[in-house]
Amino acid sequence: MEQKAECCPTRTWMRAKISLSLWLLTCAAVSDALPTYPEKASEEDAKLVQNYLNKFYAIEPDPNQRAWKINAESTDEKLQKMQQFFGLNVTGKPDNETLEIMKKPRCGVPDVGLYGFALPGWKKTKLTYRIVNYTPDMSKEDVDKAIEKAFKVWSAVTPLVFTCIRKGIADIMIAFGTTAHGHCPRYFDGPLGVLAHAFPPGNGLGGDVHFDEDEDWTTGSAGFNLFLVAAHEFGHALGLSHSNDQRALMFPSYSYVSVSEFPLSPDDISGIQSIYGSPPNVPDKRPTTPTSPKTCGSQMSFDAITTLRREVIFLKGRNLWRVYPDNSESERELISAFWPNLPPGIEAAYENTKDQILFFKGNKFWVISGYQVLVGYPKNINTLGFPKSVKKVDAAVCNKNTGKTDFFIGDKYWRFDENSQSMEKGYPRLTVNEFPGISHKVDAVFQQKGLFYFFHESKQWEFDPIAKKVTKEMESNSWFNC
Ligand SMILES: [Zn+2]
Ligand SMILES: [Zn+2]
Repeated sequence: MEQKAECCPTRTWMRAKISLSLWLLTCAAVSDALPTYPEKASEEDAKLVQNYLNKFYAIEPDPNQRAWKINAESTDEKLQKMQQFFGLNVTGKPDNETLEIMKKPRCGVPDVGLYGFALPGWKKTKLTYRIVNYTPDMSKEDVDKAIEKAFKVWSAVTPLVFTCIRKGIADIMIAFGTTAHGHCPRYFDGPLGVLAHAFPPGNGLGGDVHFDEDEDWTTGSAGFNLFLVAAHEFGHALGLSHSNDQRALMFPSYSYVSVSEFPLSPDDISGIQSIYGSPPNVPDKRPTTPTSPKTCGSQMSFDAITTLRREVIFLKGRNLWRVYPDNSESERELISAFWPNLPPGIEAAYENTKDQILFFKGNKFWVISGYQVLVGYPKNINTLGFPKSVKKVDAAVCNKNTGKTDFFIGDKYWRFDENSQSMEKGYPRLTVNEFPGISHKVDAVFQQKGLFYFFHESKQWEFDPIAKKVTKEMESNSWFNC
């Protein structure tokens, strides 16, 4: 099999390689400490659980490296993550329901980690693909047809155009292989188990899709339907990660649906359109469109705003906007498409010093790392040290320079020490005393390049915490390219 990564290893390929070696490391580290589940699971089941978690839940994004690291959580914790992802009872134990899911044929792409946040995707809309070799299970024409149809699934809802080439290097190289195949850093596992895998957009292996030739590939409902599996893998090749929505094509387990039906769910469509937008001259198909507020209206206000690494996330109702301050591009998504466990109408949000985001609504809060709500949340805000009389938080921001988080409630604020994880004494205090010029209730606030940005209805104030003064007054939507 031809591999374009050979001559010039790219970042994607390196990353894939790193993740593989991490898997191996993890395997080595845990194999002499296989947990025992005496009453329920046989040795075989314990092995299955360990293998499954190592393959699909063993790594997580490392924000500092913009890469991946070994997920140091215990087997129980990883199992809880897996159970949460699949909507099972979160017991941290390999019960029958959990084992059942683990035995299902599925995609080889991990459910956590590999993709981190939604990827930027390809920087172009015209993409090429090439079928490098063919499976003997089907006629060549049927393979060509299945692949072409699988690309049409995605081109129907985006501006993307896919062209088949017969030689040379395509953006998306498609190949069939068994066990160790070509120069791919990932192995296949024989019949069943992993059916296929794909690499996220990029050079080298980026965008490439491999099918396990040890499976029986078909055009129908017997064996594995090549069109359905290909459509799923192409989702990865375009930058999507797994969805925990069972109706979604991007759900990790294989299930046959009638091929005459269009296989995308609203979750898939909103995911791919958040990367590439809608097809030209076709109205935006996302379910939110009719009611989604326009950020460029003169009366725009926000429920909550937080930074997310280099992005700023604006939340209102069911929507969120991701803004990249340095290129003033913004993308709208449903909160539920990004973080399925969060309710709409988030009232406050902030990014802490540990690369987590805390979301508040009423007296509850959630802690999110990547796509995952941490196990045990939501919790009551009183567990942060608020007295029982505090029923909700209007806005919150963590000052990255001091490690202190301010919670704004009405015209007052509380201060929380992120290091000691405790509320400071002597609060609440009047907001205007610490932040002269900020005399209204704070709807939303975030910190960017050391400065605070306070929002109240359609107004916004830039505040310099060192000089302790307002340095600018703006419309609330100044971050959008209106
Ligand atoms: Zn997948
Ligand atoms: Zn491969």
